[in-house]
Amino acid sequence: MPLTGLQIFKLLPNTNCKKCGYPTCLTFAMKLAAGKEALEKCPDASPEAKAALGAASAPPIRGVTVGRGDRAITVGEETVFFRHEKTFVRHPGLFQIFDPAGLTAAERDAKLDHWRAIRIERAGETFQVDGIAVVETAESVAAAVAASDRGFPVAILAATLPGATAIAERIKEHRPLLVPPAGANLEGYAALAARLGIPLVVGAPDLASLADAARDAARAGVTDILLEPPGADPRLLHHSLSAIRRGALDRIHPGLGHPVFLCVGAGEIEKAVLGITKFASLVALADCGGETWLPLWTLRQNIYTDPQKPLQMDPGLYAIGEPNDRSPLLVTSNFSLTYFIVSTEAEASGVACHLAVVDAEGLSVLTAWSAGKFSGDRVAKALREMKAAERVSHHTVIIPGYVPVISGELEDALGDGWHVLVGPQEASDIAPFFRDVWGPLARDLGTHP
Ligand code: SF4
Repeated sequence: MPLTGLQIFKLLPNTNCKKCGYPTCLTFAMKLAAGKEALEKCPDASPEAKAALGAASAPPIRGVTVGRGDRAITVGEETVFFRHEKTFVRHPGLFQIFDPAGLTAAERDAKLDHWRAIRIERAGETFQVDGIAVVETAESVAAAVAASDRGFPVAILAATLPGATAIAERIKEHRPLLVPPAGANLEGYAALAARLGIPLVVGAPDLASLADAARDAARAGVTDILLEPPGADPRLLHHSLSAIRRGALDRIHPGLGHPVFLCVGAGEIEKAVLGITKFASLVALADCGGETWLPLWTLRQNIYTDPQKPLQMDPGLYAIGEPNDRSPLLVTSNFSLTYFIVSTEAEASGVACHLAVVDAEGLSVLTAWSAGKFSGDRVAKALREMKAAERVSHHTVIIPGYVPVISGELEDALGDGWHVLVGPQEASDIAPFFRDVWGPLARDLGTHP
């Protein structure tokens, strides 16, 4: 449990030397307790104080990394039950279950390459297959090696200890996750995971046995553990998932302070939904179709965003269609939803255009304007940084209809013959605006394509 300010104060030297930047040790202790300072600022803190504070400030759920390199995935380190209490730290990793039995090497590689190539951009996030869960069969060593070589974090869905050992030995440098079969004696698997230094999933028929099994695995030398929750039906699974998170946060049993692994069979999408909404850290899915993955990615994105940070697009000049220097130039804020509505309507209009996305700290246009983050000066600065003048010969920028008030300031700030045109308030009016306002104007300006 976190220490109180007074408990921390008792661990400090109490010399009030001010080297930490605070007038007294008590003031510094209160800042530490509030998580607003780091103990390193007190150069005289004893090793005992560092150890006590380090243990107390460690997250109740241990972080675990599967895989190596760019696609390695770290889960755990969560600190809350409800997102609005603070934030969820990491979203669940979604692994594709892969049974390579009966596949030729070419067929196997084609499947892996297909999953590797999947990249779907949505609201500033890239959806991809986070890892491959290889089912142990005669072909699994080669399949696990092929998946690892493609950078995928790999989970080994073991059937036997010798089979799992053969796979794990081959790809141990890639830090695979070892998943014993249901009901297996965990001793041998724990010894294997401890020897190779790889993470291990432990399962048990009830929560008390699960916590004990995790503690036993830790005692056997396994550093990184994931829990497979008991739950043959959705009701029991829901209870298990919630109880594990609550038990971990309240530090009821050291064996519960680990991330959760969930294996989802074919057609069990409701189980995946439960896992994503209720704290599963890694979810291995048997289904491979977009009808399963797309809604799950979207669900995950909607739950695992930081409520303190609006979804944002990277500021910049985006091309809608294939615009040229005579194409209209729209400007909007970098609130993801705004961007997607505006870009979708602009695309639907059939008129290729440039869309300047201005950094408004993720706020919508009107909110950003009222907070001083979508002023004429700020938009002009952004357009200069994007070198918009080099992209459009007409030097006309179309601003959102909700902020006509910035047009004068923007025109002054842009200078050099720029014109500001007030666009529609609603994105759905972009197409008629292009047709009825931009079209005739472009003809007058001699810029109509
Ligand atoms: S540096 Fe350490 S000993 Fe000095 S006032 Fe700050 S907390 Fe106290």
